[in-house]
This record gives sequence, C-alpha cells and structure tokens, in this order.
Amino acid sequence: MIGTISMAYLFSAVMFILSLGGLSSQETAKRGNWYGVTGMVVAVLATIFSASVQAYWLIALVMTIGAAIGLVLAHRVEMTAMPQLVAMLHSFVGLAAVLIGWNSYLDPGYHYTGSAMVIHNTEIYLGIFIGAITLTGSLVAFGKLQGFISGKPLTLPARHLLNLVALIVIVLMLFIVVPQSPNGGAAFLILVMTIIALLLGIHLIAAIGGADMPVVISMLNSYSGWAAAATGFMLSNDLLIVVGALVGSSGAILSYIMCRGMNRSFISVILGGFGTDSSATGGDEDHGEVVATTFEELADALDMADSVIIVPGFGMAVATAQTAVSDLTDVLRKKGKTVRFAIHPVAGRLPGHMNVLLAEANVPYDIVMEMDEINPDFKKTDVVLVIGANDIVNPDAIERPNSPIAGMPVLEVWNARLCVVLKRSMATGYAGVKNPLFYKENTRMLFGDAKESVHRIAHALE
Ligand code: NDP
Repeated sequence: MIGTISMAYLFSAVMFILSLGGLSSQETAKRGNWYGVTGMVVAVLATIFSASVQAYWLIALVMTIGAAIGLVLAHRVEMTAMPQLVAMLHSFVGLAAVLIGWNSYLDPGYHYTGSAMVIHNTEIYLGIFIGAITLTGSLVAFGKLQGFISGKPLTLPARHLLNLVALIVIVLMLFIVVPQSPNGGAAFLILVMTIIALLLGIHLIAAIGGADMPVVISMLNSYSGWAAAATGFMLSNDLLIVVGALVGSSGAILSYIMCRGMNRSFISVILGGFGTDSSATGGDEDHGEVVATTFEELADALDMADSVIIVPGFGMAVATAQTAVSDLTDVLRKKGKTVRFAIHPVAGRLPGHMNVLLAEANVPYDIVMEMDEINPDFKKTDVVLVIGANDIVNPDAIERPNSPIAGMPVLEVWNARLCVVLKRSMATGYAGVKNPLFYKENTRMLFGDAKESVHRIAHALE
C-alpha cells in the first residue's frame, strides 16, 4: 500500500511540475491547468486511502461543504475580484498551517523524544509562524484590494524596529520551546509566538501599498507555498513538501519578476512605505486643459492609420470590454491595419490579468507584446488606444523623481502620433496619482465606459 501511495505522490509531483511548465505560456496554459487538476485528484485520493486516514465520513462531509462553497464562489466571482479571491485563498493555506501546527503539538499521540522531538517541535514552531504571517497578511491584502482598508502604506513610527524586535523575540522563544515536550508547558510560549506572528503579518502587509501591491500578492503566494511545505514537514507528507516548495519558489520568482517590472528592489518593497513622502503628491501643477474627442473623430483617425497599438488596463477588466476590444481588433485588421497589444507587467490587479482577459476574448497570442518588446515601437505608431489604463502609462514615473511611482517602467504611449485614452472621468488609478499624459498635446480623451466606447468606435468604423 505504502509503495502505491508513494508512486501516486510521485505521479502527482510530476503533474504539478508539468502544470507549472504549462502555465508559463498562454498556448499551453489550458493543458497546464489539466495537469494540475489531474495531479491534485490523484494526490487527494492517495491521501484519503493512506493507512493513517480513518474518519472517511468526516472527510467526505468537509470536502462536500468545501466543494459546494468553492463551486458557488467560482461561478459568482467577477474577473475584477480575482485578486481578492486569490488573497483570501492564500489566507486559508496560512490558517491550515496554524491549525495543523497546533494540532500536531497538542496531539495525544505525540510520541517524539530526543532529537526527533527537537526536529518535530521546530517544524511545528516554524509552520505556525509562517502560517500566521500568511493568514493575517493575506487578510490585510484582501482588505486593501477590496477597498475595506486604505490602499496607502501604513507607516508607524519605528516600524522597522518593531518588526526587528518581534523577530528577535520569536527566535529567542524558539530556543526555549523546541527542547520541551508538549507536557513541558511550552504551549503558552507558542501561543505568544502565534499572536506576535499574526500581528507581524498585519504590520508587514499594511506597510506596503499603492503601486507595490502586485509584489505583495505574489509574495503572499510564495509564503502560502512555504506554509504548505512546513505543514508537509509536520505531517511527514512528502508530496505536500514538494508542492509547497514548488509554490513557494515559483511565487518568489514571480515576486522577483514583478519587482523587476516595477524597477523596485525586493527588500525595499517588503520593508514597505513607498509613496509616503508628503511631497510625493503626483504633481499639483497646472497641466492645462484636456482635449476630448468624439467617436467619429477617432474612427477617422483609425481609418487613416496604418499601425495601432492597444494598451489594456484595469478599466478594461472593470468594463468587461475584452470581447468588444477583440471585435474592434478584427474590424481594424480586416481594414488592413497592423494592430498589436502592449501589456505592462502590473496592468490590472493580478499578474497576467490582461493576458488572461485577452486570451478569453480569443485575441491571437502573436499580436500580444510584452512592455520591453513594444516600448521602442510607439514612436513609429499612428494611433494608441489606452483602454482603462492609467498608472501603467503615467509619464511621471519616468519624468518626476518624487512621484510615488517614480522608477516604475511604463508604456511610453505619448511617443505615438496620437494617443486616445478611454476612461470614464479624470479619476486617478490604483496608485492615486495624477497623470500628465491626459494633458499632452497629442492626447485625446474619450470619456465613457470602455465597453460602450469600444462598441461605438467599431460601429463608427463600419
Ligand atoms: P489603474 O488602476 O491605474 O487605472 C485604471 C483606470 O481604469 C482608472 O483610472 C479608471 O478611470 C479606469 N476605469 C475604471 N473602470 C472603467 C470603465 N468601466 N471604463 C473605462 N475606464 C474605466 O490601472 P492600470 O492597469 O493602469 O494599472 C494597474 C495598477 O494596479 C498599478 O498601479 C499596479 O501597481 C496596481 N496593482 C496591480 C496588481 C497586479 O498584480 N497587476 C495588483 C495590485 C495592484 P475612471 O474611473 O475615470 O474610469
């Protein structure tokens, strides 16, 4: 039996690796998803049929309840609320690690002694620690993305010192806790550590805000992986260790990519507090008047253009305009225009958000370009359509050193002959900073809901 279960775990681990490989490109993403589903089904079945599991009815009950909630949520959740959902799911992994840690410590069947006890207690201590940080950190990220909590970084005085003291206390307590058996009464210290870690999770994530939130999401993804790996150690479950390590390291790589996309150092993002300088308002100077355009004017400009670049942003997701944008692309391409999409690494509210929406709307992959590939081409482009994007096309990121988004590479749409911005008002984007792009000489504003506007442009073109 053990041999069969090990084989099943090995099979699942391979499936998960293939799944990650598949998810790394749009063409293979669906296949990657299926590998993941297959791996997970095999892993769950193998675990259920392992010798240590007995309470089948209880497992069936909680799995049915969990699956029912999951199905309802998956059907109901809007694409725009995916980041919040992901943050919430990360918090579940953290909660599971905390509960399993406590369970392992208070288990009446606890039988470890000597060095095995030291190792097991260390696993429990670290598992609860990582789990608690992931739990509250993810809940704060959820609150920020949902708008329950201000998106601005919370910068308490001496916040770095507070974090350092919390860490030192936790490390010191580790040395007191691990040599003691659960009968030795270290449970109180573990409780103190759990509370400190829960508070640390809140403080660490509350200190990060504005345009740095993408890194928080991928970082918490990584933490949830390490929390799962720690749980795997506590339960002596090899597959959970492998899967946790895969999620932990891929989340860390994603965080690195997001940091590179935003030109931030990982450490400075983790330490938080960007954009809190009171002089960094995003510019209060008078930029003049914006110039609005009409559907007919824009249709004429598009009719005369040879090359068009479309820049989608969070507003396209809010308006669910992706299918309308895909239809407009077809109209333009049928008229012989070269149409491409420019994707910023932090566009939307989730890594890969725009790629997913465009794939859903059947936009061909070969016309969807990454920022670095397409930035030099704006100079040679006739018309740029900025659809519900704001921060990712803000020239202040390059031109204004004290801007909260200073240093973040942006799509240089203002280099095109004509740049038309589709949005509903003059409201700011996620980072809450003004955008001088709207006032540039070659920029025109097309106010209205993105979906409605795109429909009307396509109609005017036909
Ligand atoms: P922004 O949030 O900067 O701007 C979106 C714009 O869309 C708004 O200015 C809004 O203006 C407009 N909009 C909203 N609804 C509609 C609608 N129905 N029709 C037309 N326009 C609409 O989005 P960007 O994609 O440019 O930038 C992403 C931002 O989010 C960055 O700051 C990034 O750091 C942050 N972020 C990214 C995450 C990620 O992983 N990608 C995660 C968390 C944060 P108006 O209201 O006037 O219409």
